[in-house]
Amino acid sequence: MNLTIRARLTLLYVLVLGASFLALFWIFDLGFRRSIEITVNDESQSNLETVQKVILNSAPKGAAKVRKELGELADLWANEAIFQVAQPNGEILFQSPPFLAPDFPFPPVAAEIICFTRNLEHSQYRIARRQIEIAGERYLIDTAVPTEPFDQALDRFRIIEKEFLPLLVLLASLLGYWLSGRALAPVNRIIESAEGIGVRNLQRRLEVPKAKDELRRLTETLNAMLERIELSVGRITQFTADASHDLRTPVALIRTNAELTLRHPRTQAEYRGALNRILELSEETSQLIEQLLTLARADAGETHLKYEIVPLTPLLERVSQQARVLADAKGLIFVKKLGGGAATRTVNGDPAALERLFLTVLDNAVKYTPTGGSVAFRLRAEDEQAVIEIEDTGMGIAEDELPRIFDRFYRADQARSREIRGCGLGLSIARWIAEMHKGTIEAESRLGEGSLFRIRVPAVTGVTNREFIFDEVSTSTNNVA
Ligand code: ADP
Repeated sequence: MNLTIRARLTLLYVLVLGASFLALFWIFDLGFRRSIEITVNDESQSNLETVQKVILNSAPKGAAKVRKELGELADLWANEAIFQVAQPNGEILFQSPPFLAPDFPFPPVAAEIICFTRNLEHSQYRIARRQIEIAGERYLIDTAVPTEPFDQALDRFRIIEKEFLPLLVLLASLLGYWLSGRALAPVNRIIESAEGIGVRNLQRRLEVPKAKDELRRLTETLNAMLERIELSVGRITQFTADASHDLRTPVALIRTNAELTLRHPRTQAEYRGALNRILELSEETSQLIEQLLTLARADAGETHLKYEIVPLTPLLERVSQQARVLADAKGLIFVKKLGGGAATRTVNGDPAALERLFLTVLDNAVKYTPTGGSVAFRLRAEDEQAVIEIEDTGMGIAEDELPRIFDRFYRADQARSREIRGCGLGLSIARWIAEMHKGTIEAESRLGEGSLFRIRVPAVTGVTNREFIFDEVSTSTNNVA
């Protein structure tokens, strides 16, 4: 059924109220009938007792006296109450006109009073009947009270009921419609303000109702959701802008290089130089595109990670070999200490992703440490976690910049001013990989003194890697900037 909530509420209201009115009217009707019954029974019984008294007083004086006294009593009763008195031999001592055919022979009647309803001369009467015995004589007494006035009152009451019920239901529907309208007014306001919110004005919020009710909670929840959406959209917009900007620079450089080279005839060596520069820029661009793709896939939830039980030491060994090449090339001291944390040397993870995580941080350590400095690569155990630390004695990061280095495209002033290659995506990918392994990555740093990056990954306990690695220290002999 495609009914609005307001229509449904009104319908429900009408149904509930209609049913309540019906039940109430039924109870009133029942009460009315019951009270009529009690009234007429009482009246006919009290009449019967009066007749009984008259017979009791007059019977010793003979039948004629009884007849006379009963006749006088009938004259006194002007309220349409009637009666008849008969004897078992069929003799009728008194009979009000509506009592036409006396029931002879006498029906077996108990000594106590019985009440019943009967039609006498087209009118309904409530009859009280009793058999009494006085001075050896038996008398049957019937006293009757007309029920018509009561029936008429009941009929009038029922007519009023019938007339009022639809009116009450109509009133209930109007009231229900008005009440549900009032109750739903804040919902309509929420709908109206929600309709006015789009991507262009995501900073707008829904009006929060004053009453501390469910609708207030709903608007507050929706507002919190809008806030998250605004933040995400802001990040996406920023990401797109930063990505386009970062892609434009190398592409423009490739183009300029090619254009300048082609402007005049060049020597073989000049062509080689230009092509090498273009190749370098293309590699940087491919790397940037690859990083962007990784982050886009991560955002879309397409992780492509294949988890397995990974013995950490061989993996860290492979990484350290690559890092050593980089450190050597830059003339840095590379210190490796991977023998610690024997109990936590196995993790559940994607080996390629983990390698990338450690290499990113090691590459940064090498990149941001001037020649002559040192880089340390350590493994230790802490609370069933493998803790991998990468420490350098490089340029360090300013205190106010430290919280932002894991943000996408963020590059600290030091890195930018010295024109060190990079686009600010490495650490955001590293953090994402750590999180995908239920791990963390944090940094400590002092400007001009160096940085320490700490990666924690939960270990798979019970599996140990028995491989024994000697701690070693290597000093670079090459001095390549
Ligand atoms: P990129 O290195 O490509 O600029 P990252 O996301 O890897 O991007 O790093 C973000 C920023 O954090 C870097 O630009 C640099 O300013 C700072 N940073 C990262 N590692 C170090 C480090 N070991 N020493 C000093 N600064 C660092």
